[in-house]
Amino acid sequence: MPQKTKMTPMMEQYHSIKSNYTDAFLFYRLGDFYEMFHEDAIKASKILELTLTSRNKNADEPIPMCGVPYHSAQQHIDTLIEKGYKVAICEQVEDPKEAKGMVKREVVQLITPGTVIESKNMKAKENNYLSAIYIDESYHLAYADLSTGECKVTSLNSKEDLLNELFSIHSKEIVFPEGEYLELQNEIEKNLGLYISTYTSKKSEAELDKHIPVDFPIAQQTALSHLVGYLYETQMRSLDHLQEAENYEAAHFMQMGKAAKRNLELTESLRDGSRKGTLLWLLDETKTAMGGRLLKKWINQPLIQKKEIEERLDTVASLLNHFFERIELVDHLENVYDLERLAGRIAFGNVNGRELKQLNYSLNEIPIIKETISLMNDEIWEKKLGKLVSVRHISTLIEGAIMDEPPQSITDGELIKDGFNSKLDEYRDAMRNGKKWIAELEKKERDKTGIRNLKIGFNKVFGYYIEITKSHLQKLPEGTYDRKQTLTNAERFITPELKEKESLILEAEEKSKALEYSLFLEIREEVKKELEAIQSLAKVIAEIDVLQSFASIAEQYHYTRPEFHSTNEEIEIKDGRHPVVEKVLGEQSYVPNDVLFNQDVDILLITGPNMSGKSTYMRQLALTVVMAQMGSFVPAKKASLPLFDKIFTRIGAMDDLIGGQSTFMVEMMEANLALTQATRKSLLLFDEIGRGTATFDGMALAEAIIEYVHENIGAKTLFSTHYHELTELETRLNRLKNIHVGAIEEDGNLVFLHKMMEGSADKSYGIQVAKLAGLPISLLSRAEQVLSVLENKNKIKEMDTEYEEISRSEKETLKENQLSLFSAQNPNEETVLNEIKDISLINLTPLEALNTINRLQGKLNEDGGRV
Ligand code: ADP
Repeated sequence: MPQKTKMTPMMEQYHSIKSNYTDAFLFYRLGDFYEMFHEDAIKASKILELTLTSRNKNADEPIPMCGVPYHSAQQHIDTLIEKGYKVAICEQVEDPKEAKGMVKREVVQLITPGTVIESKNMKAKENNYLSAIYIDESYHLAYADLSTGECKVTSLNSKEDLLNELFSIHSKEIVFPEGEYLELQNEIEKNLGLYISTYTSKKSEAELDKHIPVDFPIAQQTALSHLVGYLYETQMRSLDHLQEAENYEAAHFMQMGKAAKRNLELTESLRDGSRKGTLLWLLDETKTAMGGRLLKKWINQPLIQKKEIEERLDTVASLLNHFFERIELVDHLENVYDLERLAGRIAFGNVNGRELKQLNYSLNEIPIIKETISLMNDEIWEKKLGKLVSVRHISTLIEGAIMDEPPQSITDGELIKDGFNSKLDEYRDAMRNGKKWIAELEKKERDKTGIRNLKIGFNKVFGYYIEITKSHLQKLPEGTYDRKQTLTNAERFITPELKEKESLILEAEEKSKALEYSLFLEIREEVKKELEAIQSLAKVIAEIDVLQSFASIAEQYHYTRPEFHSTNEEIEIKDGRHPVVEKVLGEQSYVPNDVLFNQDVDILLITGPNMSGKSTYMRQLALTVVMAQMGSFVPAKKASLPLFDKIFTRIGAMDDLIGGQSTFMVEMMEANLALTQATRKSLLLFDEIGRGTATFDGMALAEAIIEYVHENIGAKTLFSTHYHELTELETRLNRLKNIHVGAIEEDGNLVFLHKMMEGSADKSYGIQVAKLAGLPISLLSRAEQVLSVLENKNKIKEMDTEYEEISRSEKETLKENQLSLFSAQNPNEETVLNEIKDISLINLTPLEALNTINRLQGKLNEDGGRV
C-alpha cells in the first residue's frame, strides 16, 4: 500500500504562492520548465493539449501535474490569455547554486487579457486596452494600452455613454474596485462580454501619482489610480513608458452609439466581426502599425470642429498636390517599425538586439521623412515638421554598438560590434587567438603523426579534443596523447597544452558574453532616457501615415474634398457612392446617386422594392458624413454638408440574443435612443422601422415616429419604408419629401435601377423580388392570388370607411374572390363553391338565403372541411 505522504517543502511553497493567485494559472518555474499542479494542471492540460502526469505517483493522492518548457512558454501563455484566463509567472528569484534549502520563488508578473504586451495574437494595428471606472454623478473611464504606453481618461454622462465608449475602444478587460458596482459589472459582462477583474492594490499614492496629473478632476484621478494601481499590482515593475494620462471629452467628437458604429460597419463587419467590408478596411492604406491604430481611432471619433477638420483636409490636399513627394514619403514610412510598442518593450526590459536595430532603422528614416515633407513647401506641414525631431544620438549609439544581424537572445553574445568596447575586444582577441592556435595545432599534429584526417573538435561535455579514426590509430605511438573518449569509429584524446588553451578560450568566451549582456543593458538604459521623444515621434508619424492613407484612397477612388457650411443646413451630394459597396462592385457597376436636402426639408421618406438599394443609399450618406468629419475626402462629385453632432441608426433586423433582447425590442430601444438624444444637428437613419411587429402596429409606430421627428427634433432623417401608406404623409408634413428607388418590370422580371427618384414608388414588388430569389413558380402564383385578395379586401375596407357608392354585385365579386382565397386549399369545398357560384341571389328571399347558407355550412362541417 502506498503511504500517505506529507506535503513536501516544494509543494508547501507552491500552495502558499498559489493561494494569492486563485483566479490565475500559476506557471511555477522548476529548472527549465514551468509546471502546473492540481486543478490548474487538469484544466491546462485540456486547453493546451498537454500530457497530464502526476507527482508522487505512488502516494495515496498523487498530484496532477503538467508543464511546458520555459523557452516555448509564450505560445501557451498566449493561448490561455486569448481564451480569457490570467497567467501568473512564478520564477526562481535566487540562484539555485547559492540557495540554502528551498530556492526562493515569487510571482514576477500577472498577465491578464488587458495587460498583454507581447503575444502572437496581438495585432499590430489593434490596441489592447485595459479600463477602470469610477462613478459619482458621472461615469469616469480611464484606460491604457500597456504595450504602447497610451493612457487616457474621460467622463461620461450616462451608463449608455460608458458602454458605448467601452465598445468603441474595444477594451479587453475592465477593473473594478473589489466588491463595488456589482450590477454594472454584470451588465458589462453580459452586454460587452468584457473580462472583469477586481482591484485591491495597496500601492502607495506617491508611486501612482507619477502617472496621474494633479490638475485633473478628482474623480478622473480616482479612475486613473484604479487603473495604474492594477497595472502595478499585476506587472510588478516600474512603468516608465506609461505616458502621462491625457483627458478628453467625448462631446468633442461626433457621437455615434454602439448601434450606429455596428450598423454602419465602421470597423467590424456585421457578418462576422472581421475588418473585411468595413470602412476601416477600405480606408486603410497605412504603412505603419501606429498609423493603423490611429486610423481606427479617427474612424470611431470623427471631429465636430470645422477648423480641425479643414486642417486635416488641407493636409490631404497638400499630399494630393505633391504626388512624387507623397510616393517617396510612403516608401520611407514603410521602413518605420512600431515605435510605440518598441518603446514599451524597452521600458519593460524585454527588448532584444533585433528590436533595437528596428528602432535604429526607424529613427534613421525620420530626417529623410522630414526632408521629403519640407520639399512640398507647404505651410500646412509646419507644426508636424516641428515635431519630427530626430533622436540622432540614439540611432548613432545603436548603430555603433549592435551587430547588424543580432541573435534573438541577449545573453549568448554575438550582439555587440567589435570596436565598441576595448575590454570586449580583448576577450574576443583571446578567443580568436586561441581558436587560431587550435587550428595551427591541428596542422602541426597532422604533420607530426602523418595522419591526414586527424582533427580537433569541440563539444560541451569534453571541451576540445583530438580525434583519430580507428583505422589510423596504429600510426599513433602509444602515449602521444591522453585518451579521453572511445567512439565506435574513433578515439578522442587531449593534451595538457590543449586543455590550457581551452580554459583560456572558454573563460574569454564566458566573460565576453557576460560583458556583452551588461553592455546591452547599458545601451538599453541609454535608449530608455529618450522614451518620451520616441513616443512623440510615434504620434506624429502615425498622423502623417493616416493622412497619406486618406490621400492615397482619395486618388485611387476619385474622391472629392467635402465642403462645410455652418450657416445653413442643406445637404447637397452630387453623384455620391457607398464607398465600400463601390469598392466591392467596381466603379463601373455602381450607380451614383444624389442626396439633396434643401433648406426646407428634414425628412426624406424612401420607398422602393426590397434589394433596390434603400439601405445602401442611407448608409452612403452616413459614411460620407463620417468620412468628411474625419478629414477624409468623400465618394462623390460634390459634397456640401453641415456639421453633424451625432448619428443614430435603426438599420437591419439584428437580434441581440446574447443581451437577451428580441429583434423588435432592439428596434424600439434603438429608436428610443435616437428620439431622446438627437438634436437638430443630428443625422438619423431609420430603415424599415416597425418591421418586427404586426403590420398595423408597425405602420402606426412608423408614422408616429416620423411625426415626432418632424415636430420635435428636426434632425436630418432618412426613413425607408415598405409601408406605402406612409407616403401620404408628404401632404401633411411640410418638411417631409418622398423619394423612391426606381425599378422596372421587363418581360415579367424586375430590374433594379438603383437610382433615386422624386416621389413615391408605385408598389413594393415583393413577389417579383421573391421570383428573383428563385422561389417555386407555383408558390409565386399562389402569392399573386393571395396578394390580389388582400388588396381587394383592403379596397372593401376603404370603400366601407369612405361610404363610397358601390354596387352590391361589385362588392360581392370582391368578397367571392376573397372567399376563394381561404377555401381553395380544401378539396371538400369545391362543390360548395360551385353551388354558391350558381345561386341566383336575385331570386332568393333573405330567409331562403339564410337556409342555403345553413345547408352549405352543414355540408362543409359534415365533410370535415374547413369553413
Ligand atoms: P434595400 O435596402 O432596398 O433592400 P440594399 O440597399 O440592401 O437594398 O441593396 C441591395 C443590393 O443592391 C446591394 O447589396 C448592392 O449590391 C446593390 N446596390 C444597392 N445600391 C446600389 C447602387 N447604387 N449601385 C449598384 N448596386 C447597388
